[in-house]
Amino acid sequence: MVIIRKVAELLDFVGLRKEQGEKIGLVPTMGALHEGHLSLVERAVKENPCVIASVFVNPTQFNNANDLATYPRKEEEDFRLLAQAGVTAVFAPSVEEMYPGGPENQTRHEFDLGTAAEVMEGKFRPGHFQGVAQVVSLLFRLCRPDRAYFGEKDFQQIAVIRNMIRTEGIDVDIIACPIKRADDGLALSSRNALLTEAQRAIAPEIYKTLKYSVEYSKEHDVRATHHTVVEHLNSQPELEVEYFEIVDARTLLPVEEWDESPWIVGCITVYCGKVRLIDNITYRKPESC
Ligand code: AMP
Repeated sequence: MVIIRKVAELLDFVGLRKEQGEKIGLVPTMGALHEGHLSLVERAVKENPCVIASVFVNPTQFNNANDLATYPRKEEEDFRLLAQAGVTAVFAPSVEEMYPGGPENQTRHEFDLGTAAEVMEGKFRPGHFQGVAQVVSLLFRLCRPDRAYFGEKDFQQIAVIRNMIRTEGIDVDIIACPIKRADDGLALSSRNALLTEAQRAIAPEIYKTLKYSVEYSKEHDVRATHHTVVEHLNSQPELEVEYFEIVDARTLLPVEEWDESPWIVGCITVYCGKVRLIDNITYRKPESC
């Protein structure tokens, strides 16, 4: 595996691979890798002769300075895991390399991300998706991937990136990969490392409650299902729901009835102490999706 730090070096690498007619798979990450990231990498390695994983904690998608400062970083371990997984190249640039002159001095390009970017994460993390679109579109332009792999843990992010490639005219297949969970059900996340022992013990309640709500939804309406999730989680020590939305998976707009859409998911963000955890659950989904 080659470790690439510089944009110029990446462009040369990609140019050579393209000349050889190789398909390129891209897995964008912010590092502190876990089995969730590695499941994306494994799929990319199976499907593409050349796989580039990026490790870059993108400052422009953080709307909270403390969140950025405390975001876990462990580059050497990440490189070891990526090499072991069969990645061809890791792109791990500095902030200066990605944003010469500083992120604040980039020409401001307002991405058209559609209404999917305005709800949930878009509402609670103003500017977050513009930052995601900025870094992902830059990675797409530099790596020119045929396929790019994203996790369904960030369900809304996938919808927003699909809108972004459409409006920006970028030709790439977006591959959505299922959520990887710990044995107790907690969705794997780099942020889990920031939980205290007591918080880590209570955090699995999030998925447990979501799973229970799928059973509950068979006998109850959307409103009652929403209510039971929020009430139950908020009654747990350390947990506080920031939002829980039961939405049409395609538009990400809230539904009021279960028969309103063939594909319905519940997206949740819960604070566990100061750590912000996200997860989601499917209530109904057509076989074809
Ligand atoms: P991040 O490093 O958190 O930006 O995540 C990089 C990619 O890994 C994103 O596409 C995430 O959705 C994906 N990812 C993170 N956690 C998981 C997980 N538990 N299961 C599957 N994919 C994940």
